[in-house]
Amino acid sequence: MQSHANSARLFAEALRVIPGGVNSPVRAFKSVGGDPLFMQRGEGPYIFDVDGNRYIDHVMSWGPLIFGHAPPQILAAITEAAARGTSFGASTEAEVRLAQKIVAAVPSVEKVRLVSSGTEAVMSAVRVARGFTRRDKIIKFEGNYHGHSDGFLAKAGSGLTTFDLPDSAGVPKNLTLDTLTLPYNDAEAFRDAMRAHPREIACVMLEAVAGNMGVVTPRADFLHALRELTTADGTLLLFDEVITGFRLAYGGAQELLGVTPDLTALGKIIGGGLPLAAYGGRADIMDTVAPVGPVYQAGTLSGNPLAVAAGLAQLTLLEQHKDTLYTKMHCQMHALAQSTKEAAARAGVPIRINRVGSMMTVFFTESKVTDFTTAKTADAARYGAYFRALLERGVYIAPSQFEALFLSMAHTDDILAETAAAIAEALHVVA
Ligand SMILES: *Cc1c(COP(=O)(O)O)cnc(C)c1O
Repeated sequence: MQSHANSARLFAEALRVIPGGVNSPVRAFKSVGGDPLFMQRGEGPYIFDVDGNRYIDHVMSWGPLIFGHAPPQILAAITEAAARGTSFGASTEAEVRLAQKIVAAVPSVEKVRLVSSGTEAVMSAVRVARGFTRRDKIIKFEGNYHGHSDGFLAKAGSGLTTFDLPDSAGVPKNLTLDTLTLPYNDAEAFRDAMRAHPREIACVMLEAVAGNMGVVTPRADFLHALRELTTADGTLLLFDEVITGFRLAYGGAQELLGVTPDLTALGKIIGGGLPLAAYGGRADIMDTVAPVGPVYQAGTLSGNPLAVAAGLAQLTLLEQHKDTLYTKMHCQMHALAQSTKEAAARAGVPIRINRVGSMMTVFFTESKVTDFTTAKTADAARYGAYFRALLERGVYIAPSQFEALFLSMAHTDDILAETAAAIAEALHVVA
């Protein structure tokens, strides 16, 4: 029997000085029940809480840790960088090297700007799209999450879905008037919207493979319509690859899907576990950013030496192993999905599994999940029970139905067999 006494004590203290006791809402475990865990350290595929409990980690900091916790090469890079000084507010060689790596890897990116969070990356990319096209309106899709900046919070995924919030308070109405929100995977609705707003849409933004309403894959005809109609109308196509960049393939979802956007937002993996993100795209578009062009975007800690060192080390490792690593994780996740499906059938629990590469979501629903509406048919209460049953068995998954389960290179076949066994038991518990 696990004790969570130290976590509970810290949570009580946290509640007095931090809203909800957490610095990001989903961490509060509200939708799965129980008090949040306070973590002490991570090692490879494992995370340890402050009560000394060890869990196989399938959250992996929500995506960044593709080589597991504290991989030696990345630690060494951070330590070396820290010894030389933690921030200069001036240019460094490593920033150039990281930018070169991103440009070489991601098909759509000819020039790239480094920022500190995914929110900042998407927000800046949209500003560039508006500045470049001299249009105000944007299109986004239900259930896609693009960070917490004002204009993007209508029917967004991730924490808003977890807490069933249609949007956020504190966002002035006139700020979202220019945001059109359409159903994901609906080429017809998209066609209608483009027809209704000719030469008015600055950009169409989407998670090319969605991860924040749980994993949802794009239909080929949907992606095709997006690329074709945006090009025809002078609208920019923006892929939010904050999760999928360097995860689904070395060149991200765009490499996997064979669709090249005009702008791309990156985050999570490119920071190697430190706060780093980026936005980039066609050179002529990116050259609207100051000091070359009129679109202003800046950051005191942008291109921070520690974050850049971690990101560079992580991308260097990925590049070295890219011919085998993506296939390996894909096969491992396929096997985990297969065993989960079989266990659910044995337990008589209806589930739907969506999986791409090293991302997967087990939806507790009978209906096929292709968009936000179908994702929300999932039984979040049953997911909560499943989460708690897994936690008791030493497996830590996202404390929300509407997120992805991740793999890392530190998850060996033996460890995944342990996860699979715990999943089979947990499915019996929730049957
Ligand atoms: C995580 C995420 C963001 C926001 O990134 P932060 O670093 O949390 O600000 C934006 N878009 C997508 C697709 C994400 O998954």
